Amino acid sequence: MGKLDVAILRYLTAEDFRVLTAVEMGMKNHELVPGSLVASIANLRHGGVYKLMKELCKHRLLTYERGKHYDGYRLTNAGYDYLALKALANRKVIASFGNQIGVGKESNIYTVADEDHNPLCLKLHRLGRTCFRNIKDKRDYHAHRNTASWLYLSRISATKEFAYMKALYDREFPVPKPIDFNRHCVVMELVRGGPLTHVTAVDDPEALYDELMNLIVRLGNCGVIHGDFNEFNIMIDEAGHPIIIDFPQMVSTSHTNAELYFDRDVRCVREFFKKRFGYESELFPRFSDLQRDDRLDADVACSGYKRSKGDDQQLLQEMGIDLAVEGEESSSEEEEMTPPQPVSNYTDDELTKLREQVEASIHDDETKPIGEVVVKTK
Ligand code: ADP
Ligand code: MG
Repeated sequence: MGKLDVAILRYLTAEDFRVLTAVEMGMKNHELVPGSLVASIANLRHGGVYKLMKELCKHRLLTYERGKHYDGYRLTNAGYDYLALKALANRKVIASFGNQIGVGKESNIYTVADEDHNPLCLKLHRLGRTCFRNIKDKRDYHAHRNTASWLYLSRISATKEFAYMKALYDREFPVPKPIDFNRHCVVMELVRGGPLTHVTAVDDPEALYDELMNLIVRLGNCGVIHGDFNEFNIMIDEAGHPIIIDFPQMVSTSHTNAELYFDRDVRCVREFFKKRFGYESELFPRFSDLQRDDRLDADVACSGYKRSKGDDQQLLQEMGIDLAVEGEESSSEEEEMTPPQPVSNYTDDELTKLREQVEASIHDDETKPIGEVVVKTK
């Protein structure tokens, strides 16, 4: 699990890619996608689809499973990775792979390089699987929906991360330069340096402390709270300055619990400085000090991901994903982020629509130029 077999990127053909994309589309509505549906929406000539699916199962990009009501295919982690990496390779964002450099609780981090051998950082978001099981045990959420939701959650997480990173980068916050994203993968600048947690001593703790607190305040004045501002998500570059990473959990300062999250971020820094550097200060920011001078939160909310409603909202919140910015209506791409639907039979119209989505997705993955991502910022 979690290991990237990049050689596969070279073996597989455009038809394989199409079949996987069809399964991905089918998974929006089915936990297991029946072979006949894959064949239908992949829209390939001569019924070669079954053979292709068999091969893809052999490579463990798909699995064939027996469900309660019917049998069908689903994408594996590796299958989903493949789709995203192939798309990023098609777009010439990434050209080669290096090592895994991090395993977060909800991500795997790799070094990659572009065509000119510039090193970059690739973050694969992996949400949902285990957490979903827990939620399911407790509450019996719509069981049929659970398996497919890891695709959805991981994709939202990556989309959200990219949107925040871009909005922050555009405002000259010290964050890695966002390069591109696809599905659950984000490509960004590789930070030279290491996480603050590896730093055992600094020349001037006070200066670094101030720099970090000022960042928290600057973020707050833009309308956002990092939400996980700790020594693992603060990188220290070669010049000793902080670079902030890891944004999927960011929230708006108009969030109901904003003050709580804000205080927690501040406390994280204070406690770390006390414990690690023996540095304490009476001076630290409070939520009431913030003076809003930007609408970064609103910009991000209407950029790349859509608010979901009802229990999806609740579910996402339990997963620590907050899509809502109070008082802001989102106006993003139609269909972009609808969660997986209950199993249903498709009408001809729906089938046509699915086929169109497969075409559009493949077209996008082949052609979308860098820089023209769906994220809108000021
Ligand atoms: P998670 O959400 O799983 O915590 P992070 O984004 O915090 O993932 O990344 C996990 C680790 O990977 C970080 O602590 C850091 O060591 C490394 N890392 C992440 N992004 C970068 C980057 N852009 N450059 C260098 N290292 C990075
Ligand atoms: Mg982290």
